[in-house]
Amino acid sequence: MRRKLAAGNWKMNGLRANLTEVTALTTAHSAPGVDILLCPPATLLAPMAAAAEGTALAVGGQDCHAAAAGAHTGDVSASMLADAGASYVILGHSERRADHGEQNEDICAKAKAALAAGLTCVICVGESEAERDAAQTLDIIGEQLSGSIPDDLTAETLVVAYEPIWAIGTGRTPTLEQIGEVHDFIRARLQSRFGEATGAATRILYGGSVKPGNAAEIFAVPNVDGALVGGASLKATDFSAIISALEAAPQQG
Ligand code: PEP
Repeated sequence: MRRKLAAGNWKMNGLRANLTEVTALTTAHSAPGVDILLCPPATLLAPMAAAAEGTALAVGGQDCHAAAAGAHTGDVSASMLADAGASYVILGHSERRADHGEQNEDICAKAKAALAAGLTCVICVGESEAERDAAQTLDIIGEQLSGSIPDDLTAETLVVAYEPIWAIGTGRTPTLEQIGEVHDFIRARLQSRFGEATGAATRILYGGSVKPGNAAEIFAVPNVDGALVGGASLKATDFSAIISALEAAPQQG
């Protein structure tokens, strides 16, 4: 049975003063029925991990370098994330792919580094609006899955996040049928590549304008095991409502 996951991505938002949101969240969800993860900017990882100590909240990075250490000014390695208290890392977010030119093979190399550092990888895939309009969505997702995920990831160390680029931060979401089609496709691809059991046990999140008002209907879609949430994870009240909707959703898998 797959344990659901509510993951928040703070992106380049948050100062130490915003850690009050973490306290509010962990107080509201002291014994959550789902896994909860927040991925703050690197500067907040250690203080957020300290604020989350003894609670059910996990913290994660938003990216890592593929190398373990070395001359890479401004970058952060997977072992540095782990050392700061992270247990997860988001890789291949569309903003990284767009802003930093990250290709599938770069993400695969980062995932290997993350695995070596003991982190669970949240690997993001998703089509642009033009690709969806051209009926290329499943081809693009298929290529991203094959190219970005290394062979040695397991259901414990891999989470896939389906994030249509045109839905991120726009207030627009795919129809429930469109979400279901892509999640079923990802499940089938994971099962054919990693085997029935591993593919069935791997969590698949939906991301893109998830809000308290639409979370419940998205979480009822088969093969949606939770969400990767951007804007609505910044405020404890909004993220808490999404967590509660996930706790109340039908069990998947
Ligand atoms: C994201 O950046 O991963 C995301 C889903 O953002 P938002 O929820 O703001 O659309």
